[in-house]
Amino acid sequence: MRTFDYIVLGAGSGGLASAFRAARHGARVALLEPGSLGGTCVNLGCVPKKAMWYAAQAAEDVQRAREFGFDIAPGALDWCHFVARRQAYIERIHAVYRDRIREAGIELIATRGHLRAADRVDAQGETLCAPHVLIATGGRPRRLATPGFASGMVSDDFFALRECPHSVAVIGGGYVGCELAGVLHALGAHVDLYARSVLLSHFDHELSDALADSMRAQGIGVHLHAGIPDVRREGGALHLDQIESGEAAPYEQVLWALGRVPNSDDIGLGTVPLALDAEGHICTDGQQNTSVPGVYAVGDVTGRMALTPVAVAAGRRLSDRLFGADPEAHLDYRNIPSVVFAHPPLGAVGDTEQQARSRYGDAVRVYRSRFTPMVSALSDHPQRSLMKLVCVGEEERVVGVHLFGPGSDEMLQGFAVAVKMGARKADLDATVAIHPTSAEELVLLG
Ligand SMILES: Cc1cc2nc3c(=O)[nH]c(=O)nc-3n(C[C@H](O)[C@H](O)[C@H](O)COP(=O)(O)OP(=O)(O)OC[C@H]3O[C@@H](n4cnc5c(N)ncnc54)[C@H](O)[C@@H]3O)c2cc1C
Repeated sequence: MRTFDYIVLGAGSGGLASAFRAARHGARVALLEPGSLGGTCVNLGCVPKKAMWYAAQAAEDVQRAREFGFDIAPGALDWCHFVARRQAYIERIHAVYRDRIREAGIELIATRGHLRAADRVDAQGETLCAPHVLIATGGRPRRLATPGFASGMVSDDFFALRECPHSVAVIGGGYVGCELAGVLHALGAHVDLYARSVLLSHFDHELSDALADSMRAQGIGVHLHAGIPDVRREGGALHLDQIESGEAAPYEQVLWALGRVPNSDDIGLGTVPLALDAEGHICTDGQQNTSVPGVYAVGDVTGRMALTPVAVAAGRRLSDRLFGADPEAHLDYRNIPSVVFAHPPLGAVGDTEQQARSRYGDAVRVYRSRFTPMVSALSDHPQRSLMKLVCVGEEERVVGVHLFGPGSDEMLQGFAVAVKMGARKADLDATVAIHPTSAEELVLLG
C-alpha cells in the first residue's frame, strides 16, 4: 500500500488545479485519471467548442467581408483540416500538463479510482492511502433510455465529426444546445433547435428571448416548449416523433443536448456512502467537505455552477485550506460570471431581473439599451444587441449585468470585477466611455 498526503480522483479542471496547488504547498499527491489529461474542458468541452466557435466566427467574417466589398466568396470549411489543427492544439495542452505534473512531483496514475474507505482508494488492484481524498470526477452527457436515442449523437460525438452534416435537429435549449446549434448553422448545416421550455432558462428572460429572435433571424428554426421527441431512423434519415410543434423534417443528424449527469455512480460510494442530491451530485458544504470527513468534492460532480473556472477556483482554495497557511480558504460562489458562446455571444453576472425582483421587490431598477452595433449596421443583416443593468436600492447597487451582442464574451470580465466590488450605477456613470464600442453603452445608460 502506498501512502500520500492527498489522493485526487480525476485530472480535469478541478482535479488538476487542486493537485498542482497541493503539490506547491509541499503535499505528496497521487492523481488518478483513466482518460485524457484536462478532462471535459480540454477534450470534450470548452476548448474544442471554442475552437469550433472560432471557425464559425471566421465563416461569418468572410460573409461580412464580402458584404463590405471584398472580392471573396464564402466556401465550405475543410472540417478535417480544422479538426487536425484543433486536436494539435489540444495535444500541446496535454504535453504542458504532462510536464507540469512531472515537475511538480505528482504521481500520475492512469486509471480509475474507487473509494475503499474514507482514506483509501483502489487503483486497479493497488491500494493507495491518504488522510485527504478529493473527488473531481466531473460529469457526462445525459442519455435517455428511449429506443431511438442511440440514433442521435451527444456533445462528445459532435467533436468526433469529420464533416458538416447537411441538416441537424438539436434537442435541448441549454448552453450546449445553443452553442453547437450556432456553430453548425454558421458552418453550413440546416439547423432546427427544439427546447423543452425556453432557451437558456437560467438566464435573464429578455436575453433568452433576444437570442431566440437572433437565431431565427439567422435562419435557425427555434421551437420552444417542444417537448423531448424520440428519434426514428427511416432509410438514411432521422425523423422526430412526438414533437408538439408539428411534424418535423427528417434530418441527417440529431444532437441530444439534454444536460449532464455527475460521475458519482462508479467511484465506490457503496463502500463510502457520501450524501448525494436527487440527481446524484455529491453534496458539499461551503468548504467543499462532503458528508464524510477527509473526503472532498469539487467541480461538476458537485452540481454547483458547472464551469471550468469554478472547478479550478474551488480546487485551488481547497488545497490552500488543507495544505497551505489559509484555514479559511473557500470559494465564494456568488457573482460568478458566465458566457454562452452563441452567435453573437451572451454573458451574465449576478441576478437576473426576475431573481432580483423576487428578492428585492420594488427596490429594483432596470436599465437597458437595445442598439445595432456598428459592425452589424455596416452589413446586410443588422442584428440588435441588448445590454441590461439590474440595480437595487437607493444607492442603485449593481446586482446584475446581462449582455447580448458581439464582444459580450470579452466585455463581461471587467464588469464582473465591478459587480464583485459592489459597484453602484453612479460608479458606472462616472466612468468615461470608450468610443466607438458596444461596451460604452453600459456606462451611458440613462
Ligand atoms: C460541450 C461543453 C462545452 C463547455 N464549455 C464551457 C465553457 O465554454 N466554459 C466553461 O467554463 N465551461 C464549459 N464547459 C463545462 C466544463 O467543461 C466543466 O465545468 C469542467 O470541465 C468541470 O471540471 P471537473 O474537474 O469538475 O470535471 P471534468 O473536467 O469533467 O474532469 C473529470 C475527470 O475525472 C475523470 N474521472 C471520472 N471518473 C473517475 C474515477 N473514478 N477516477 C479517476 N478519474 C475519474 C474523467 O475521466 C475526467 O477526466 C463545457 C462543457 C461541455 C460539455
